[in-house]
Amino acid sequence: MALVRCRECDRRISDRASSCPGCGCPVTESGPSHVVVEQTGRGLKGRYLAWSSIALFGVACILVTYLLRDSGLGVGPLDPGETRTLIGLIGFLGVMIGGVGMLWTKVEIWWRHG
Ligand SMILES: [Zn+2]
Repeated sequence: MALVRCRECDRRISDRASSCPGCGCPVTESGPSHVVVEQTGRGLKGRYLAWSSIALFGVACILVTYLLRDSGLGVGPLDPGETRTLIGLIGFLGVMIGGVGMLWTKVEIWWRHG
């Protein structure tokens, strides 16, 4: 246990106390801000996961075009070539957008956490 000074009233208090008994000010300066950083980190991680699932979806689409290349399968009014082009395009866009999003989120995580 360590004693810390309350940043509001300068009273010496235990660092285990959640708030100063004198003025009610939260004890650890790192406490509340630390929580905010963790929340931000979680938010960024969630966004990173979202972007990476878009990128994975794109990769899956591109894989599907490879799997469909000999099947002669068309979707709706599209012939097989058009179907592959469309799915490939969606996949390419997914990989690009997801990749840029992942990179952007990485930069943002690096920017906030050093
Ligand atoms: Zn105080």
